[in-house]
Amino acid sequence: MAESWSKRTKAVHGGTRRSQYGEMSEAIFLTQGFDYPSAEAAEARFIEAGPDEFIYARYGNPTVAMFEDRMAQIEGAEDAFATASGMAAVNGALCSMLKAGDHVVAARALFGSCLYILEEILPRFGVEVTLVDGTDLDQWRAALRADTRAVFFESVSNPTLEVIDVAAVADLAHGVGATVIVDNVFATPVFSDAIAQGADLVVYSATKHIDGQGRALGGVILGRRAFIRKTVEPYMKHTGGSMSPFNAWVMLKGLETLSLRVNAQADTALAVADALIGHSGLARVIYPGHPSHAQHALCVRQMGKGGTVVSLELKGGKEAAFRFLDALTIARISNNLGDAKTIVTHPATTTHQRLPDERKAALGITPGLVRVSMGLEDTGDLIADFRQALEAAS
Ligand SMILES: *Cc1c(COP(=O)(O)O)cnc(C)c1O
Repeated sequence: MAESWSKRTKAVHGGTRRSQYGEMSEAIFLTQGFDYPSAEAAEARFIEAGPDEFIYARYGNPTVAMFEDRMAQIEGAEDAFATASGMAAVNGALCSMLKAGDHVVAARALFGSCLYILEEILPRFGVEVTLVDGTDLDQWRAALRADTRAVFFESVSNPTLEVIDVAAVADLAHGVGATVIVDNVFATPVFSDAIAQGADLVVYSATKHIDGQGRALGGVILGRRAFIRKTVEPYMKHTGGSMSPFNAWVMLKGLETLSLRVNAQADTALAVADALIGHSGLARVIYPGHPSHAQHALCVRQMGKGGTVVSLELKGGKEAAFRFLDALTIARISNNLGDAKTIVTHPATTTHQRLPDERKAALGITPGLVRVSMGLEDTGDLIADFRQALEAAS
């Protein structure tokens, strides 16, 4: 029956394991180890642990297993491995399967730490990486080779909100036998259908919308059971990137409200984009869920809604962007996203500061660009605040 549930029902009930006490709220099993009834039982468990048998929290834990099962059900994946952070998930997905001599093709518009793994770490171990404009299918076609083992991209890029066609890139990648890894943070599990669209592995930073209230770090890798258990799990459990039981509990409680929160944030994002488009202080309003976005049709086909982030490009460069940030009274200046609190970020001087100016320019990270992660405040209050701050900035 659970298979026929919609995502919203799975997000509330999926993967629940109850102890002998029948607790309503998921229990936090804050334990590293597990007591074996006998030496024989310990030996048997090390040969093969059953689905409800645990050895050590770095390998697995009942609270973490609830989160993994719930995430797998929501995403429509066979299995999942929960990680200490989103970056542990990205690193685990890539490093668990790659070896020296392999080739990887990745979209160039990436979260800074993802770019660090692809450009600095993987080449150090003999993996060759080619970066392409992820929205240009001809560039993917040209870069893919017989020895390409994996492709990696963010389905909606940060912070310029380009939408990458998951199904089309997966088709091309599968043509050369490559594994498709999608960093799906901006799509969120609510709007994602990435596994059905051809992704082999989906990774999330649970730190963002899954927690949704800015409390804990976490991540998850989703995919086919054999891959998760035979390739990802050995790498993760022996290198120490597993999720803590307490954080898994925070994420489980976050999943219960995920759909309500993310839908409300996406509706606010569309209303804000619509209200600010054409404002004299703005050169550009970028929101994939608005008809003005170049890939609006792809966004609607792939995700339904446009996600929870809007990017604004102020006329007047860095000075205007800073005046805008400093004049806001509701939105907070920070660098997380997916929080209940609206967050504004100036990527050129913070998250993407490290990039040389010509790369920032190539990625569209201009001095006037501001990323806005919509929170759960009243939409009218937010629009009024953005308007007064734009007046102050110009
Ligand atoms: C935040 C983020 C990550 C990293 O997640 P952490 O939980 O901070 O480690 C990776 N990819 C994308 C797209 C992100 O937004």
